[in-house]
Amino acid sequence: MADTSLNPFVRAQQSFKEAVETLGLESAVYEILKQPLRTFEVAVPFIRDDGTLQVFTGYRVQHNDALGPTKGGLRFHPGVNADEVKALAMWMSVKCALLGLPYGGGKGGIACDVDQLSEGEIERLSREYIRAVSLVIGPDKDIPAPDVSTNPQIMAWMVDEFSRIRGENTFGLITGKPLVIGGSRGRVEATGRGLVFATRQLATEMGIDFAKARVAVQGFGNVGSIAATIAYAMGASVLAVSDKDGGLYSASGIDIHDLLEYKRVNRGFAGYPQAEPIENRELLELPVDILFPAALENQITADNAPNIQAKIVGEGANGPTTPEADAILFDKGVMVVPDVLGNSGGVTVSYFEWVQNQTRLYWSEDEVNQRLEEYMSRAISDMHRMHERFGVTHRKAAYLVATDRLAEAMRVRGWLK
Ligand code: GLU
Repeated sequence: MADTSLNPFVRAQQSFKEAVETLGLESAVYEILKQPLRTFEVAVPFIRDDGTLQVFTGYRVQHNDALGPTKGGLRFHPGVNADEVKALAMWMSVKCALLGLPYGGGKGGIACDVDQLSEGEIERLSREYIRAVSLVIGPDKDIPAPDVSTNPQIMAWMVDEFSRIRGENTFGLITGKPLVIGGSRGRVEATGRGLVFATRQLATEMGIDFAKARVAVQGFGNVGSIAATIAYAMGASVLAVSDKDGGLYSASGIDIHDLLEYKRVNRGFAGYPQAEPIENRELLELPVDILFPAALENQITADNAPNIQAKIVGEGANGPTTPEADAILFDKGVMVVPDVLGNSGGVTVSYFEWVQNQTRLYWSEDEVNQRLEEYMSRAISDMHRMHERFGVTHRKAAYLVATDRLAEAMRVRGWLK
């Protein structure tokens, strides 16, 4: 079966449309939500190590700011394009509204391959990007954060560049910073931790004991590596992991600490002696209890959804499952923890980081993790309420909660008339 919905922007629009119709809201809600309020495309020139000038294309999209300043990560990836960033910004609006954060959705990125750039080049590129978008971002306007192939060091260069432009330290500009310059404890682990938390809650409802579950993890970056580590620490057997270069499988489970150490020393999984190589495609179709897609969009499609054997798909990535695949999984009785809930731990702790920056009072890791669980539990209950009231999937229920909040904010602000 051909998948007709691989454009994430079209998917995001469709999800808002369905939510507005199901809730019986005024059509103006969809008219505003169906596209971002602002889309910036910028040229980012920077000097390569050999002295030549190269220009990459960068984006910053601000989908909707009815609930507060826009918020969302910055992605460095060759596949970055306007429609992808728009969709990712729309999904951030859903996440922030679902979690009850005082933010709208934003997102940004640069179409580039970080593997081809030296550290110095990445620093110069990051600083130039901030110069290019400096007028449209800010702690009360639009607050970036890490996403695919960006990290605390990149956030540090960016906040430094912005602070130089402003002539004052502006730590609240960006989240996911190193601790020493206003980062939050628990932020690095937050997305993976939240993913395991939400998945464990839903697993328990299905009568699956997370601590005894067999798990496969696609993607070993900011989200997948932490989810694998936490799942392993809880007693789950992590049978397979993968990154963009390929994966590893062991029927008896992989020792994640040993693998992390191997990866650190060898800069990759290749040659790891305690597991066999596996293709990404095979990983998705393994007979496991829980599958965590934690890489990129469109990984579970109409083509491979019929072969998925996991009982639960916990979405760590943004948009890993196409709508056609979603319907197939639903028919097969596979429970999906939707991305807008599954990976929302990251932006939730980003919010805590921003609050700490604004108040100058820093929290302990326990405080952060406890509040993260509170926010996620509340979102899960809100999602459940809509799931039961309208008899829809968890994903649709999450959109109902979010769309209802966005609509209310726009209504009271007078945007809908
Ligand atoms: N990039 C992450 C996401 O997709 C985090 C965003 C943030 O912390 O603002 O949710």
